[in-house]
Amino acid sequence: MKFPEKIRKFCPHCNTYTEHKVRVEVVRKVRRALSKGQRRAERRSKGHGNHGRYSKKPISQWKLHAKTTKKIDLVLTCTVCGKSRHMGLRRMKKFEIVKA
Ligand SMILES: [Zn+2]
Repeated sequence: MKFPEKIRKFCPHCNTYTEHKVRVEVVRKVRRALSKGQRRAERRSKGHGNHGRYSKKPISQWKLHAKTTKKIDLVLTCTVCGKSRHMGLRRMKKFEIVKA
């Protein structure tokens, strides 16, 4: 899908239609070393033998590919007040922002 770089949309903060910049947000999953679950997993996987569910990879890393598309998160930023909002997640194979 091709999408223009700037679009005119309604801004709820300005209460009028203004020019909006479009960008794609990338959702990153960061493993925090000091989170409670991470500390627990490290403690339980110490030592020898089978550690139950801590011996397995998390389900998100299993190679099950039911979906063939990726989710894309579009963020619109108002050029007048600078506030931004998400357009919601959509699934699509290809996505590019085109200069109009
Ligand atoms: Zn605005």
